[in-house]
Amino acid sequence: MFSAIVIDKNDDGQTVTLQQLDESQLPEGDVTIDVAYSTLNYKDGLAITGSSPVVRKFPMVPGIDLAGTVTESSHPEWKAGDVVVLNGWGVGEVHWGGLAQKARLNGDWLVPLPSAFTPKQAMAIGTAGYTAALCVDALVDWGITPDNGEILVTGATGGVGSVAIALLKKAGFSVAAVTGKPSEADYLTGLGADKIIDRAEMSEKGKPMQKELWAGVVDTVGSFTLANAIAQTKYCGAVAACGLAQGADLPATVMPFILRGVSLLGIDSVMAPKAPRLKAWDRLARDLDPAALETIGQEIGLSDAIDAAKKFMSGEVRGRYIVDVNR
Ligand code: NDP
Repeated sequence: MFSAIVIDKNDDGQTVTLQQLDESQLPEGDVTIDVAYSTLNYKDGLAITGSSPVVRKFPMVPGIDLAGTVTESSHPEWKAGDVVVLNGWGVGEVHWGGLAQKARLNGDWLVPLPSAFTPKQAMAIGTAGYTAALCVDALVDWGITPDNGEILVTGATGGVGSVAIALLKKAGFSVAAVTGKPSEADYLTGLGADKIIDRAEMSEKGKPMQKELWAGVVDTVGSFTLANAIAQTKYCGAVAACGLAQGADLPATVMPFILRGVSLLGIDSVMAPKAPRLKAWDRLARDLDPAALETIGQEIGLSDAIDAAKKFMSGEVRGRYIVDVNR
């Protein structure tokens, strides 16, 4: 038997409970894993609170990522004892996920735990941090260098934003952080932010073309904030868009694209192929100071995760929740 959070649905709505399950109930897969740590991502918050139809199959064990040790494998790449990391691939949405002591997955979805990190540190990074690395890779691969100017990061105290700031700083960029939590200015400057911008300055409808301020942008919130960020991006700059914390809409015009050559780079972590995944984890292993993880992550037990998800969705939480699934 093992412990797992289970989301179910009946005529009265959605239920979320901590349950004891039998290993025989695990879904199909060629690799079985003893999970050490998972995390709460924004998507897990949506799934557990039921505030968005993230879960597409019931009953579902949520948790879009995990780190743990392989116990059984018929996949050629993995053997018992390997320590692995999983991000995305619909896990926690259509396939049982990481908020459990055991998981059974498709071995093609796994990457090796980078030697720079413990399983706990990998989950302090989680899908949020891995997505931040995908965003930074996208801007750098686009050709943006520190000489081009500052990078704007929105949703700065969130999981993606926090790690993006730390990675950008390490890569030599000057970083402006947009936050709705002015009280967290020290946290953000500690991570590497050079400038703090009040969220209110970005989150209302603005002009289609504004003063050119940013060489690049990592946007985690969408909506008017993303529209304003695009309108403030310098000639031939790029905006990596990965999130929708403010909204899924994009009330913008094409003017910055056609008059300034600004590019909008879409970032998806869920179905990203293996090469960019490994590249993103390489960047994290190389550039993320483990000390930064101490300030970004706070540990909770599996039994705390349901309540924590509700708090998380209220937008009050700073950084990331790491879930020790064995307590
Ligand atoms: P968090 O909840 O940790 O952070 C989101 C941050 O956005 C908050 O901390 C807050 O930061 C800011 N925010 C919250 N509400 C609003 C609002 N109404 N208007 C403007 N800003 C707001 O989430 P994550 O960092 O984990 O994820 C961020 C986004 O990225 C989410 O939308 C998530 O779904 C998405 N995502 C996408 C992935 C992909 O593959 N494309 C993968 C992972 C995440 P502050 O108070 O500092 O302003």
